[in-house]
Amino acid sequence: MTEQVKQTLEALRANSMNAEYVETKAEVVPLLQRLLEPGCSVAVGGSMTLAQCGIDTLLQSGAYENRGREGFGADAYLTSANAVTQDGVLYNVDGNSNRVSAISYGPKKVYVIAGANKIVKDLEQAVLRVKTVAAPRNAKRLDCDTPCAKTGACISLEKASPAMTDGCRGDERICCNYLISAKQRHKGRIMVILVGEPLGF
Ligand code: SF4
Repeated sequence: MTEQVKQTLEALRANSMNAEYVETKAEVVPLLQRLLEPGCSVAVGGSMTLAQCGIDTLLQSGAYENRGREGFGADAYLTSANAVTQDGVLYNVDGNSNRVSAISYGPKKVYVIAGANKIVKDLEQAVLRVKTVAAPRNAKRLDCDTPCAKTGACISLEKASPAMTDGCRGDERICCNYLISAKQRHKGRIMVILVGEPLGF
């Protein structure tokens, strides 16, 4: 485990989230099988990371009630994050916003699975990560007609000091609701599983 991962795990725990580390994506499903109550209802947020970890197969195994994207009222919600800061903050930007709403309220437990590539120094770097990596690559993947899908970077970066919410003005913009998850009131509701290899965008 790198010093950066260690520091991030400690900071997440200090912010009242549970935090675990696994070396490889192959260890994610076995860990979740230990954590999830048999028969519990599970919903998911759209995520390349979850697909890479084989979460679809887990949900189709029959061991759980698969709620698909319907996160509210589910026992557990599985998602990734756009960035995880070394000082223990999760940063997510959403278009449809099922993901940011379920992370902040609703499911009894939220499991956030993130590759080590999602770790950044602080919130400023998290904002930059979304504008230069996560949003452009997702916009391209989803075939959205946005400037970033064509250029690989948010149009707001043409300004000297863009604000977090600066961006394009078209109807296909995928950056609509911004969620910063810091110190939690409900201790242990969110569990972050950091994976020691790159996953997702
Ligand atoms: S605001 Fe628009 S251009 Fe900027 S990253 Fe989001 S979708 Fe792309």
